[in-house]
Amino acid sequence: MKHSITIAGGGLAGLSLAIGLQSRGVSVTLHEASTYPRHRVCGEFISGVSNETLESLGIGNCLSEATNLQSASWSDASGRLAEMNAPGHGISRWKLDDILQKQFTALGGTLVTNSRIASAPGVIWAAGRPRQPSDWLGLKCHARNLELSHDLEMFTSPDGYVGLAKIEDGKVNICGLFTNRPSSGAKGAGLLISVLRRASLHLLADRLESAELAESSFCGVAGFKPGFQRGPTFSIGDAASMIPPFTGNGMSMAFQSAECALQPALDYASGRIPWREAGEISTAAQAIRFRRRMTAAGLLHHCLTNRTGLKLIGALARRRFLPFQTLLNLVR
Ligand SMILES: Cc1cc2nc3c(=O)[nH]c(=O)nc-3n(C[C@H](O)[C@H](O)[C@H](O)COP(=O)(O)OP(=O)(O)OC[C@H]3O[C@@H](n4cnc5c(N)ncnc54)[C@H](O)[C@@H]3O)c2cc1C
Repeated sequence: MKHSITIAGGGLAGLSLAIGLQSRGVSVTLHEASTYPRHRVCGEFISGVSNETLESLGIGNCLSEATNLQSASWSDASGRLAEMNAPGHGISRWKLDDILQKQFTALGGTLVTNSRIASAPGVIWAAGRPRQPSDWLGLKCHARNLELSHDLEMFTSPDGYVGLAKIEDGKVNICGLFTNRPSSGAKGAGLLISVLRRASLHLLADRLESAELAESSFCGVAGFKPGFQRGPTFSIGDAASMIPPFTGNGMSMAFQSAECALQPALDYASGRIPWREAGEISTAAQAIRFRRRMTAAGLLHHCLTNRTGLKLIGALARRRFLPFQTLLNLVR
């Protein structure tokens, strides 16, 4: 190979592309700002990624320790709105990212942890959602001894939405996106519970209070906006396009964006095309692949996070007029 490749960001997009390239003989150096294993704010519900995509990246086995999920429910503060099928996998980012980083280093890739680098020509940008002023606060925490009625439970309120998903080892991940208002001073899992109460999701808050919440898994993030992002030329994953979290499709998109980037990055590494062209081909492939779902998810996110939209779709769901399968397909 004529060029080696540097990747900034060892989340799902960066790690899966790094494995795809390294296993095809490209020498890859991946810089990750933190270290492994580590918790990330994420619903940890993976849905909509095909085996072909995972195989093409050389990570066909990465979900073998995940919990298979099928049933899902959607409720608001007043009770259950709908039940549906939402097939997918539940696995913590603590586990999944760690599996992938071990696979990358076993292939001979160079992983530099605790290394935050700047964007530059020759660096594939997989650094996740860019920081920008926004109204959103993401919170997540793992729990034990929390019974779920369905494999995935979704709750909506005008103050945000939250999902509970079964993950590995009998644990449940609780993760939500809320409007970012000054908090009561509560910290850690207590903050999550107080934000749920502020959103009038008291029954859910009561359930969490009686469960065993893993304080060490608690994390939060603010300062990001879903949508297409204006990142460096060769960007993948959330750094290029962050789909609203309720879709449970962001992790799949991270893998799919790595798949879009794989061939152009290989062509650059072998000297067939220059850097800029490789980045442009990858960006164009992602735009084609993600445009429809980003538009649909943006509109639905807007409905799910304002009082009138929620009233309307809640009423449709109660009367069984909401075409869940069609909506789910639109955001996949
Ligand atoms: C509240 C919430 C809930 C979600 N729920 C789900 C869900 O249930 N299902 C789903 O599929 N998706 C969900 N998502 C989205 C999903 O988490 C992301 O789409 C996915 O993590 C994107 O992967 P990524 O590799 O692009 O970025 P990330 O996973 O964010 O990884 C980026 C990495 O880059 C590192 N980094 C940052 N800057 C630098 C730098 N300068 N140099 C080196 N390293 C750097 C970071 O430390 C990080 O490890 C959710 C998101 C949020 C906010």
